[in-house]
Amino acid sequence: MATVSKRIVLHFPKRLVDRPIVYRLVKDYNLEFNMLKASFTQEEEGLMVLEIKGDQKDYDKGIKYLTKSGVRIQALSQDVTRNEERCTHCGACVTVCPTGAFEVEPSTRQVNFYNEKCLACGLCIKACPPRAMELHF
Ligand code: SF4
Ligand code: SF4
Repeated sequence: MATVSKRIVLHFPKRLVDRPIVYRLVKDYNLEFNMLKASFTQEEEGLMVLEIKGDQKDYDKGIKYLTKSGVRIQALSQDVTRNEERCTHCGACVTVCPTGAFEVEPSTRQVNFYNEKCLACGLCIKACPPRAMELHF
């Protein structure tokens, strides 16, 4: 049987945040997962990045189960980068990013971008005045 390993982003609505949904992937669908990131946005929507491994059939069933439960799924195939020449270090992205991928360097007031924390949600792209944040597929 074909084995797959995929990285996906799960968006949980508020009502599902406390439910053991991910645990059921293991118990009922024989999938293995590795939680790469978990966070909550201001609206208290849950965001989770999982690496899921298992048979293709189980994976498909598991994804169906998640979708039916009300979880929105996004493939992690997008990447967000910063055009360093355009960034003015204004800080607008720091407050909108749900995962804390931007940090202000206290000594220089420069805004650092940590791509490994990024979930590719796209919020900073809209928030950045000089359009320094770019989405790549
Ligand atoms: S919002 Fe844009 S210009 Fe401002 S610090 Fe962030 S990336 Fe740089
Ligand atoms: S796309 Fe921007 S706002 Fe969204 S997680 Fe990545 S860095 Fe943060």
